[in-house]
Amino acid sequence: VTLLYEGKAKQVFSVSGEPDLVRMEFKDSLTAFNAQKKGDFPAKGMINCQIATLIFQKLIRHGIESHFVRSEGDRAMIVKQLIMLPLEVVVRNRVAGSLAERLGIAEGKPVRAPIVEFYYKNDALADPLVTAEQVESLGLLPHLSISQTHEVLLSLQAFAKKLNQALIKIWQQVGLELVDFKFEVGTDKDGRLLLADEITPDSCRLWDLKTQEKFDKDRFRRDLGGVAEAYHEVLRRLKTDDGGRP
Ligand code: ADP
Ligand code: UDP
Repeated sequence: VTLLYEGKAKQVFSVSGEPDLVRMEFKDSLTAFNAQKKGDFPAKGMINCQIATLIFQKLIRHGIESHFVRSEGDRAMIVKQLIMLPLEVVVRNRVAGSLAERLGIAEGKPVRAPIVEFYYKNDALADPLVTAEQVESLGLLPHLSISQTHEVLLSLQAFAKKLNQALIKIWQQVGLELVDFKFEVGTDKDGRLLLADEITPDSCRLWDLKTQEKFDKDRFRRDLGGVAEAYHEVLRRLKTDDGGRP
């Protein structure tokens, strides 16, 4: 077993005897603003791993497949090893975060229709926003022609909307509103595009449906306090949920 990659929130290991799989181990660290702000809390890795696992399992009932294969201990999951697209896809149901700041729109304003945005995954450049045209014309997806890139972006956009609808319902079921989220995808050995990485309070903005209270990484980004308590509460709600069935 070898460490293939160590990122800000997870370590990725090979799985002996299973070359198409990797083990993703969730760390207790928490970073924001392109890792300029660092923190951690005990059991954070375990909580996020369990949250991501429950979300991936619920998504199957909504017809959405992911890289998730099985759990391994309480802070790791075995997933299909994918060739990742160097993109972060963000979907927004209300204006918040970087969008609120960049356009000077009040945080919380609902959008007329969900917004799908692409960010080029590159730490040195702090993951810049890119247009579909830039991805296509600059050839930002390796090994794909311009027309293949165009097709992939179209299917990503459609997938983003379908995933958004499923996640809105799943979070609603536990009393949380999905304000926005980020996801990543990769292709498996048969060339299929699959949801990868994680869906957790690190990658979603989740507001309590009744109180508007934040249950996500903004508590850490904005020094609101109660970070660990919020993550614990998200997991507690998902565990006691009766299934999040569509
Ligand atoms: P970062 O790289 O942004 O610091 P993490 O610490 O979460 O983030 O590292 C996990 C890495 O594993 C990310 O680069 C992510 O793109 C990648 N990854 C997620 N799922 C898979 C998968 N199924 N196969 C291969 N790589 C994956
Ligand atoms: N997001 C993420 N990883 C990133 C950037 C954003 O998971 O590298 C998530 C973030 O948690 C939020 C959504 O994507 O749910 C939109 O983030 P935004 O562009 O508003 O940037 P932020 O304010 O988080 O820097």
